[in-house]
Amino acid sequence: MIMDKFDFAIVGGGPAGTTAALYLHDRGFKVCVIEKKIFPRESLCGEFLSGEVINTLKNLNLFNSFLKLNPNQITKFKFYNGHNSFLETKLKFPAYGIKRGIFDNFLLDAVKKKGIAVLQPGEVKEIIHDREFITLVIDKGQSSQEIFCDKVIAAYGRQNILDKKLNRSFTNHKSFLNGVKFHLDKSSFNVLEKDTIQIFTSNGIYCGINSVGENKATVCFLENRREVQGNPRDQIKALMDGNKNFKKLFCENIIGIINDLPIYGTGNIYFGKRELVKNGIYFIGDSSAVIAPLTGDGIGLAMQNAKLISEIFEKQKSDGIDSLQTGRLYTREWEKLFKKRIFIAKSIQNIIMNNHYRKISYSIIKMFPNLIENIISATRG
Ligand SMILES: Cc1cc2nc3c(=O)[nH]c(=O)nc-3n(C[C@H](O)[C@H](O)[C@H](O)COP(=O)(O)OP(=O)(O)OC[C@H]3O[C@@H](n4cnc5c(N)ncnc54)[C@H](O)[C@@H]3O)c2cc1C
Repeated sequence: MIMDKFDFAIVGGGPAGTTAALYLHDRGFKVCVIEKKIFPRESLCGEFLSGEVINTLKNLNLFNSFLKLNPNQITKFKFYNGHNSFLETKLKFPAYGIKRGIFDNFLLDAVKKKGIAVLQPGEVKEIIHDREFITLVIDKGQSSQEIFCDKVIAAYGRQNILDKKLNRSFTNHKSFLNGVKFHLDKSSFNVLEKDTIQIFTSNGIYCGINSVGENKATVCFLENRREVQGNPRDQIKALMDGNKNFKKLFCENIIGIINDLPIYGTGNIYFGKRELVKNGIYFIGDSSAVIAPLTGDGIGLAMQNAKLISEIFEKQKSDGIDSLQTGRLYTREWEKLFKKRIFIAKSIQNIIMNNHYRKISYSIIKMFPNLIENIISATRG
């Protein structure tokens, strides 16, 4: 039982929450992470780790132990525009593919090894502000528990019942954008280029495929439900109809194989603006904003955001600034680091999900191939 009072309670043990815990602990704060699921657990993700993740792992002295997990190194990017053509470029940053189950567990283990308190499984149901401290009410399945803290960092991901309880402004928004992920064995492919992340597009849908080690590849879609209906099997068919290159990738009975697979997905993913601070709660990672998945950089952004919040609170401690100023400082620094990148990524996503706009943009890029590298770097920090 954790009965002490913490400087910080972090809601969520994904990349944002665990990275924030590590940085805050290193800066001398007393931290508790609350995670509702038992790890390892799957999550919706293309499972591509970008250069930002690698830099943060190095900064935390975790890179060498990360390599022991045998992640799959990725050095190339290919973009397939509809049926015939594709663009290819070498990645200018180190990148890896690894299952999120393994990666997130690795980060949470690093937190536990530092002796940081972890309450798991425990789902935060209420955040109550008293005059002196904040109380979190945690559902532990058979029982419940309260923990007390000075500040709360919300790192609970892209959507959660807590958003409604906290009356966040976007909760009733319908985006019609759904994400789906599954793992396929190498044997399900005719050809699988292990060193390449490939993006396949068609109207209202795009799909990223990359190897994640263990002879597996992750297949991950984002689809607009106004354009593409049905289950993952129907989505695969829709993309095969709109993109011959995608069809060529798989063995004959791919649809039958997908029928029997566990599928992970989320509906109505909101890519718009969210509050960064509300009622004294600081939002980081996907809880603060979701970057378009085609960048393969959500994890990187979440980890950079976690580092930022630890720097903000170190400054609060050293300069003695009040909560209002701290909130403003966080918002300003967050916007400096992430706002433009998220906007560019969202605009590219809108273009590539629309056949007409994608074809025009593709012809322009074909004329100026160096543009592709500029576009990739504009979406990263
Ligand atoms: C279709 C799609 C594909 C993507 N592909 C990629 C990719 O290839 N590469 C990449 O870098 N990014 C990708 N992303 C983005 C990436 O998945 C996220 O940006 C990343 O997971 C954000 O990390 P996080 O820690 O903020 O949230 P999460 O990873 O969602 O972690 C949140 C954690 O909080 C826990 N939790 C939730 N509610 C509570 C509660 N009330 N109490 C306690 N715990 C709670 C959850 O169980 C979870 O473990 C993709 C996103 C989508 C939608």
